[in-house]
Amino acid sequence: MAHTVTVGGIPTTRMTRAELARQMVSDCQEARTGSLALPRLIFSSNGSVIAAFHRHREFRNSLAHADIVDADGMPLIMATRLLCRVPLRERVATTDFIHDAATEASAAGLRFYFLGAAPNVAEQAMVKLRARHPALQVVGTRHGYFSAEEEPGICEDVVRRGTDVLWVGLGSPRQEMFAVANRARLPGLGWIRTCGGLFDHCAGSVRRAPDWMQSAGLEWLHRATLEPLRLGPRYLSTNPRAAFHLMTKTHD
Ligand code: UDP
Repeated sequence: MAHTVTVGGIPTTRMTRAELARQMVSDCQEARTGSLALPRLIFSSNGSVIAAFHRHREFRNSLAHADIVDADGMPLIMATRLLCRVPLRERVATTDFIHDAATEASAAGLRFYFLGAAPNVAEQAMVKLRARHPALQVVGTRHGYFSAEEEPGICEDVVRRGTDVLWVGLGSPRQEMFAVANRARLPGLGWIRTCGGLFDHCAGSVRRAPDWMQSAGLEWLHRATLEPLRLGPRYLSTNPRAAFHLMTKTHD
């Protein structure tokens, strides 16, 4: 079985959350021994990402640098069930994956750094996560509102603190562009992991969709009802395009 399946035109990993978390540990161990020259880039795909991938060349170029892209959207899983001989087994929602990752990181002694969201949110996310994973090491947090000139200094801080996994939650496409542009400034790290609005979720400032909406592929609708002005127009424009790319560009 190939390691990836093409979903809406994007090569997407077949790994489950548990497998991905174990991959994180082995990549970070390789990075610590110096056999991984640069951190691996782990991005997520969903309907908006697929629409942007086909619409914006710059975003497409950023995604081409990814070592792993996971499927963070139920419609992607459904498309593979409909169109592939071997469908994806599971959705890798970052808001669930953080707990798989935190469990593995706690056991292996890996160090996380949270970069993104409004001031104090990443710090609150760290506090909430530590309540559930007491052995988790989060060696730094920083809000996500900074200029390009500040990026080298931020990366220096991340490296100096002995980070293994940098979680970057700046929204798309900013987080993917940040990861690609700063990879070479982050030697010694195993992973740079983009994570969208993860810190807001962990800090408790955003409610997750009910389970039935998640499994019906309707999490986007839940998000649109929470932030109709920002997300309504986005989904109206990206959903039909994402559906088209999913139906025409999904295959084993
Ligand atoms: N954000 C940030 N810096 C920015 C813009 C956004 O840190 O310059 C944060 C924002 O506070 C939020 C996250 O990025 O925590 C956006 O997450 P979401 O998944 O909602 O973004 P999307 O990818 O859907 O735009």
